[in-house]
Amino acid sequence: MKILVAVKRVVDFNVKIRVKSDGSGVDLANVKMSMNPFDEISVEEALRLKEGGKVTEVIVVSIGPAKAEETLRTALAMGADRAILVESEDEVEPLVVAKIIKGVAEAEQPGLIIVGKQAIDDDSNQTGQMLSALLGWAQGTFASKVEIGDNKAQVTREVDGGLQMIEIKLPAVVTTDLRLNEPRYASLPNIVKAKKKPLDRKSPADFGVSITPRLKILKTAEPSGRKAGVKVKTVAELVSSLKSAGVI
Ligand code: AMP
Repeated sequence: MKILVAVKRVVDFNVKIRVKSDGSGVDLANVKMSMNPFDEISVEEALRLKEGGKVTEVIVVSIGPAKAEETLRTALAMGADRAILVESEDEVEPLVVAKIIKGVAEAEQPGLIIVGKQAIDDDSNQTGQMLSALLGWAQGTFASKVEIGDNKAQVTREVDGGLQMIEIKLPAVVTTDLRLNEPRYASLPNIVKAKKKPLDRKSPADFGVSITPRLKILKTAEPSGRKAGVKVKTVAELVSSLKSAGVI
C-alpha cells in the first residue's frame, strides 16, 4: 500500500509575524519558512507505518511556489520515497488544494492519504475534509493514533470529551493531531541523500484545476495587545476585583 502525505510550506511557527502596513496580508519578506508542523507529524506517521511493514511507499505532495521544493526535500530527508511539487506562485485555497490532491490520488492510487488537521498560516482546517468528500472516501480527522488492518484502519480521534475510536474503510483520508507522534529530525547524511531522490513537477492545469480564488480577504489585522494585569494583596481583594469585572 502507498501512502500520500500532503505537506505545506508555511511561515515557521517560531516567527513573530508582521502584518503588512496596508492590511493586505502577512509580510513574508525575509521570513523563515518551514514545513507545517502538523504535516511533519503526518510524514512521521507514514514513515512509522512503512517501518512497521504496512506500507511500501511514502509519497509527499506540496502545492505551492518553486521554493516549496525545500519543504519536500525535508520530507524526503526524513525518509519519504518520492515527492510531487504542484507549482503555483499564487496562493491556493483549501478547495483547490483538495482538488489537486484528489488528482494526484487518482494517478497514484494510495491506500491512505494523510494531511495535517490544519495549516498554521490560514488555520482553515478544511483540506482533509473536502478531500475525503471529493474522493468519496472515509475520513478519520484529528487522529492521535492510527492502526492499519486489512482494508480498514482504526483511528483514535481527539474530540472535546476525550478520545473517540473509529474504524474506517480504506482507502481513507486521515488528518493528524498534535499528540499522534513526535516527528524525527532529518540527519545530515539523509539531507544530502534527499537531494537525489525523485521530485516530479506538475502544474494545477495538469489536474484540470483552476486556482482562481473564491474567497476575498477583506483585511488582515494584528490582534489587539493585552491590557496590563494588576497585582492584588489579599484573596478578598481578588474576589472583589473578579466580581466587579463580572467574571464571578
Ligand atoms: P488547511 O485546511 O489549509 O488548514 O490545511 C490542512 C492540511 O492540508 C495541511 O496540514 C496540509 O497537510 C494540507 N495542505 C493545505 N494546503 C496545502 C498545500 N498548499 N500543499 C500541500 N498540502 C496542503
